[in-house]
Amino acid sequence: TSFGYKQVREDEKSKLVGNVFSSVASSYDVMNDLMSAGLHRLWKDRLISKLNPFPGMKHLDVAGGTGDVAFRVVERIKSVSHRATQGTLTDLEEDTHIYVCDINPNMLDVGKKRAAEKGYNEEQCLSWVQGDAEALSFEDGSMDGYTIAFGIRNVTHIEKALSEAYRVLKKGGRFLCLELSHVDVPIFKDIYDAYSFSVIPAVGELVAGDRQSYQYLVESIRRFPKQEKFAQMIQEAGFERVEYENLVGGVVAIHSGLKL
Ligand code: SAM
Repeated sequence: TSFGYKQVREDEKSKLVGNVFSSVASSYDVMNDLMSAGLHRLWKDRLISKLNPFPGMKHLDVAGGTGDVAFRVVERIKSVSHRATQGTLTDLEEDTHIYVCDINPNMLDVGKKRAAEKGYNEEQCLSWVQGDAEALSFEDGSMDGYTIAFGIRNVTHIEKALSEAYRVLKKGGRFLCLELSHVDVPIFKDIYDAYSFSVIPAVGELVAGDRQSYQYLVESIRRFPKQEKFAQMIQEAGFERVEYENLVGGVVAIHSGLKL
């Protein structure tokens, strides 16, 4: 590709990604907690802080899976506007709309169930849309924010997903990506490698009964571009003020950019 990032065995990748998320949908949330020791919750909170959601915003969470990021956006907006209006719904809040887009209907189904349990009314502010990050069904310049958490690594053509993100954002809109990345702290790197190569597939087998899917996840982390390279790809998609923050020494990174 123009980014020099080698796309590895594309057909196989799409097929594997489909299988992985169909087979893990029901155990997905438990596995996340287990494998990150609950840390993914803090990482997602950090992502939301950087997004700085506001009442009335139109937000798109791509590869949104079971809704973790979208629920946080909704909750943050509610807490902001309730503080300002002492609990009554403002017009602005009613305009708020969060779209969760994911290629896998099983993941979205789990998300919808969770939304119902939380008492979120779908008409009001949350929509679940099946779709591909590489070819979004949303209009040009229609979103204030775009997030993708632990999703872009699974996309076949990363540069297509980035240019779609750019397309659907309004001017001034913010792109944020939370992704497992590359550790470059010497001793910690060895420990992390050992953990991911042996512990993750073993836990995957034990809890989800699916070693191969979790083996794939570990390999996909290795193949994903390093922080600097990925930042460059985001810039090449048109974004400005591109930066990234490493969390836990680069186990995960949050990349951000603005469409100006
Ligand atoms: N964002 C959620 C979270 O952080 O909990 C889910 C992350 S999960 C590891 C990755 C998700 O990406 C899966 O739900 C999968 O179906 C979705 N996905 C994979 N390829 C995709 C694509 N091309 N377009 C949209 N979603 C995709």
